[in-house]
Amino acid sequence: MNTQDCLQILRDVKEAAFATVDEKGAPQVRIIDVMLAENEKIYFCTARGKDFYTQLMRDNHIAVTAVNKDFQMIKLSGIAEKLPEQKYWIDRIFKENPSMNSVYPNESRYILEPFCIANANIEFFDLNKKPINRKNFTIRNHEKQKKGFEISVSCIGCGKCKKICPQQCISSGKPYEIKQNHCLHCGLCFENCPVHAIKKRSV
Ligand code: SF4
Ligand code: SF4
Repeated sequence: MNTQDCLQILRDVKEAAFATVDEKGAPQVRIIDVMLAENEKIYFCTARGKDFYTQLMRDNHIAVTAVNKDFQMIKLSGIAEKLPEQKYWIDRIFKENPSMNSVYPNESRYILEPFCIANANIEFFDLNKKPINRKNFTIRNHEKQKKGFEISVSCIGCGKCKKICPQQCISSGKPYEIKQNHCLHCGLCFENCPVHAIKKRSV
């Protein structure tokens, strides 16, 4: 599993949820087709009259998520870039996605504007594996987000976290250690450590 594999999952699912923020700071989400996934970028388009377009032009931060039939989930958080060669990219998108011709026949396609996401954090999460499997990737130097929990040197080795972890992904040691690739980020260990040795990685 690598960055391109994750983007290809989004392309194969095709209909993904794309979230932006509106002018009042409220989250907005809609289903958008992932039109292409190549060279570690995904491509999509939207019409200039849509609120989605207005929101992207005001604030190009974007989050995308989708799950496939094998319960492999992709979460992507990054920056949408409007592509300068509008006609070239819209023609290319229509060539790769011929069903678009029935929605926007003939020249009406040029009301659409092409975008790509080439700068993002990607999370892959496979709920079908036991223990679950997760991986993180970044594209184009996007700042890596630390999530989940880690165990500090304050650990006294009581073993409580290891016993209660639903994924059995904590190993004994000094200190005990969370296998990050298998962690649900549920927080059960964090809430139950008697000496508060388990810390949230994002703070
Ligand atoms: S519950 Fe806390 S002190 Fe006990 S092993 Fe886990 S991290 Fe260490
Ligand atoms: S956050 Fe949940 S899944 Fe992850 S190590 Fe703690 S108890 Fe286990």
